[in-house]
Amino acid sequence: MSDHLYTLQPVGIIRSCYQEKFGIPRQPGLATSARAKLELSGACNCPEAVAGLDAFSHIWVQFLFHETQGAGWRPTVRPPRLGGEKRMGVFATRATHRPNPLGLSLVKLEKICQKNGQVWLELSGIDLLDNTPVVDIKPYLPWADAIDNARAGFAPEAPDNTPVCFTEQAREECKRFELSSGHPLESLIQEVLTQDPRPAYLKKRPRKEYGVLLWDYNIRWRIIEINEAGDTGFEVFSIEAV
Ligand code: SAH
Repeated sequence: MSDHLYTLQPVGIIRSCYQEKFGIPRQPGLATSARAKLELSGACNCPEAVAGLDAFSHIWVQFLFHETQGAGWRPTVRPPRLGGEKRMGVFATRATHRPNPLGLSLVKLEKICQKNGQVWLELSGIDLLDNTPVVDIKPYLPWADAIDNARAGFAPEAPDNTPVCFTEQAREECKRFELSSGHPLESLIQEVLTQDPRPAYLKKRPRKEYGVLLWDYNIRWRIIEINEAGDTGFEVFSIEAV
C-alpha cells in the first residue's frame, strides 16, 4: 500500500435496530423492515447539508466497519456464500475485513427530520450495526447506478430462504412491541431469520436454540421439522426485553 495517509472524519452516526453483528443480513435491502436513524454530526449537522436530498428515494451510505477494523485483513477471504470453504480475493467480495475498513450500502431514505438542533435521516433496508460511523452520503441515481444484465460472479442471485414461523406467544410479543414503538418487528425477524444468519461452522453442528438481539429484544428460535419429508425451518418461540 502507498505510504500516503488520509484522514476521514465521520459525518454522522447510525442508530440501528441491529444491536450486534450476528443476524445482520449480508447486504442491504434483504430486510426491508430494518430501520435506522442516521444522525448528522459536527459541522454536517445542519439542514443545509441535506437540502434537496429528500427528493431522492434511495441513498448510498459509506461507513466504517468500526467493530471489525482492529482485526486486520488478508488478500483472500472465505465468503459465506461459498459455504465458508472456498477462498476469493478480498476485492472480489464485500467482506468486512478489508485494507481500509470502508463499507458501502444502498438504502431507502424514508424521511429527513430535525428536532432540538439535531438533523437525522430515517433509513430502511439497512445492513448497519448500531453506532456505525458514517463517512459519506450520496444520492442514488438509477440511470447511472443500476446496470441491466450485469454479471455477479459467485453470487449471481439473492440467497435461498429458510422457512420461518412463530409461536402464538412470540407473535403477540411482536404486536405489543409494534404498538408501543411504531417499528415493525415480526416482519423484521422473518426477514432476518429467513437469511439463516448462522455462520458455516454453526450450520455443521446445529444447536438446540439460537438467539439474536433486535432493537431491545432477545429473539430466540429453534430448528423444527416443517413437513413429513423431514425438511427443516426455524420457529421463533421467545421474545424478551433485555
Ligand atoms: N453493504 C456493505 C456491507 C456488506 S458486509 C458493503 O457492501 O460494504 C455486511 C455485514 O457487515 C453485515 O452482515 C454486518 O455483520 C457487517 N457490519 C455492518 N455494520 C458493521 C460495522 N459497523 N462494523 C463491522 N461490521 C459491520
